[in-house]
Amino acid sequence: MNEVKKETKKIQATETMKSVMAASFKELDDAVKSKSKKIAWCTSVGPAELLRSMGFLVYFPENHGAMLGSSRMAADLIPAANAKGFSPDICSYLTSDIGSYLTGNTPLKKAYGMEMPKPDVLVFNTNQCRDVKDWFDWYGREFDKPSIGVFTHRNIGEIKNYELDDIAQQFKDLIPTLESIAGVKFDMDRFRETVKLSRQCSELWKSCLALSEKTPSPWNFFDHTIHMGPAVVLRGTKEAVDYYSLLKKELDERAAAGVSSIGNEKLRIYWDGMPVWGKLRTFSDLFQSLDTCVVASTYCNSWIFTQLDENDPFRSMARAYTELFIARDEEYKIKYMTDLHSRYKFNGIIFHDAKTCPNNSNNRYGMPERLQKHLGTPTLTINGDLNDLRLFSEQQSITNVEAFIEQLNEVA
Ligand code: SF4
Repeated sequence: MNEVKKETKKIQATETMKSVMAASFKELDDAVKSKSKKIAWCTSVGPAELLRSMGFLVYFPENHGAMLGSSRMAADLIPAANAKGFSPDICSYLTSDIGSYLTGNTPLKKAYGMEMPKPDVLVFNTNQCRDVKDWFDWYGREFDKPSIGVFTHRNIGEIKNYELDDIAQQFKDLIPTLESIAGVKFDMDRFRETVKLSRQCSELWKSCLALSEKTPSPWNFFDHTIHMGPAVVLRGTKEAVDYYSLLKKELDERAAAGVSSIGNEKLRIYWDGMPVWGKLRTFSDLFQSLDTCVVASTYCNSWIFTQLDENDPFRSMARAYTELFIARDEEYKIKYMTDLHSRYKFNGIIFHDAKTCPNNSNNRYGMPERLQKHLGTPTLTINGDLNDLRLFSEQQSITNVEAFIEQLNEVA
């Protein structure tokens, strides 16, 4: 890899983001210790707004999964879950998270001085994959707590009214169980307010990401993966809205001043698929050394829920959580990426084939070839995984990326 020499300007809001995240974990830990609030585990694109509006504190095991990946603890913990019968081929968020629980080894300890908060209820949405249900059901049995959820249509093109009616009704059907656990009645006004805050958070997150349409881009995919934390774990709160207002102000200033996140931007790349959490720094340094900015990704765009509408909260939530990229068919995905291509003007696309997440690996049914032909944009597929670094060859990936960027430089 070429040596990184360029000076880059740090994003000042990072410290605030860390404090906001730390405060939310402290609130969870305090609630566990004082038993003052009920805790709901929720999938990352589950009905967090409904849970918050009913007074639950919400914990996201996938966020814990990402922490296990970025701390590089995952590969050591996965075998404990394998020994319980979970295949090494299924979601490595699931296997590393269950392995973490079984061995009592969590990055939450080092980061926030706490253990994994035990749930009062677990709420999933299968819009992203089946693994989340199996994952939550296992903990439901382990803690003897209800694991309930919503079953979303998948691999869909145009979304039909009957699909939205179905999902909206499934959200409503969760309420009696949640009321009995929370010990409070569902309050429509509180729900509307939470949905409104969640939409505001999404609008701000969307406009922050859209600033990467500028050339040079004032921030990049590796920054996005760090700053998306509040959009995942705090949507539906004022804290998240305040944080993204602050971040957007700083990014607007960077964009206006022509700040390049990598120092010298010559090429622009789109990243499809999951991050390789344990190698974010490696990839970030690699692209920077190649004067290449990763300007957009499917992954970080997945937490934009601007369809949410407090005037029609159940149905708009059904729409927001069904229109997700991951739940759509290949035709929709190609249209979506074509739109991003026209806006972000990337020179190439990198597909990450994450071995244990077929759901977020979009290279497996010929999409790279079709997109390359359709957009005239070269593509590269790298093999790896979100968390299990035993499935990732660093040297081979670096060599492939370097050769790809050389190819792009020849045609640029
Ligand atoms: S979408 Fe992939 S990474 Fe996310 S929970 Fe499902 S299998 Fe795991």
